[in-house]
Amino acid sequence: MVESSMQALVEAAGQNSIAKAARMDQARKEHCEESALVEKMRHALEVMRQSVQEGLSPERRSLSGMVGGQAALLYARCRTALGGGASGLAAAYALAVAECNACMGKIVAAPTAGACGILPGALLAVQETQGYSDEQLVDALFTAAAVGRVIARRASISGAQGGCQAECGSAAAMTAAALVDLAGGTPQMAADACAFALMNTLGLVCDPVGGLVEVPCVYRNAAGATLALTAADMALCGIRSPIDADEVIDAMKAVGDAMPASLRETGEGGCAACRAYRREDGAQTPG
Ligand code: SF4
Repeated sequence: MVESSMQALVEAAGQNSIAKAARMDQARKEHCEESALVEKMRHALEVMRQSVQEGLSPERRSLSGMVGGQAALLYARCRTALGGGASGLAAAYALAVAECNACMGKIVAAPTAGACGILPGALLAVQETQGYSDEQLVDALFTAAAVGRVIARRASISGAQGGCQAECGSAAAMTAAALVDLAGGTPQMAADACAFALMNTLGLVCDPVGGLVEVPCVYRNAAGATLALTAADMALCGIRSPIDADEVIDAMKAVGDAMPASLRETGEGGCAACRAYRREDGAQTPG
C-alpha cells in the first residue's frame, strides 16, 4: 500500500517518478482510467492559478480586516527582494492564495484550507522561472497528493489534532517532494525533501488570532513555500536526510500528541494569546 509509508512510495516508484506510481495506484483504487484523474488534477491546477490572481488584488480584505493587500505588496517587490527569483515569487503567490482563502475565495485545500497557498505558490513560481509545462505541474500534484496521503495516514493533516506542523508542515513536505519530482530528481530525493521540510516545522503550533484562519496562517504559507524550495534544492544536490521521512512523520505525530490543547486551534495560545492585532490604520482587532 503506497500510502502506508514514504518507503513504500519510493519502492513502488522504482525507476519511475512518484507521480506515475501514485497515479496508477489511485486509478486502480478508484476503478477509473488514469486520464480521468489527470483531468480532475488539471481542474485543480486551474483553480490554484485563479486563486493566485484573485489573491493578488490589492483591494480585497477579509471580514475581520486583518488580511488583504499584503500579497500585492510582496508581489510588487518580489523580483528585487532579498529572497528574489523563484523564492520571492513563491512567497508572494503562496500569500496570495492564503489571502484568497481568508477573503472567502475559492481555493484548493492542499492539504487544508489553512495551508492552501504553499503548494500552488511554489509550483506556479517555478513554472514561471523554469518554464515547466502544465502537464508537468499536474504530475507534480499527484506526487504532492501521494505524500499528503502518507502523512495523513501515519500522523495528521489537522491543526486541531497536530498543530500547524500538521497543516503548513505537511503542505511544505508535500510541496518539497513535488518540486523534486518536477525537477527530475529520484523518488528517494523526493522522500528526503519531504523529511527536510517536515523536520523544519516540527513543533509549529496552531494559534489562529481570534480563531480565524488569517493570522499567522497567511504568513506561514509564504514561509512554507520558500521552505519547500530550500528542502527540494537540498535533496536535489544530493544531501541525504539523516533521518528517514517516515521517522520524521512519526516524530511529527508524537510532537502533536504532546501539544497542549491551547496550541491546537483553540485560539488560546501562541500568537492567539497576544491580546491585540495592530491593523495598518492603527485599530486594534480582534482584541
Ligand atoms: S495556525 Fe492553525 S489554522 Fe492557521 S494555518 Fe496553521 S494549522 Fe491552520
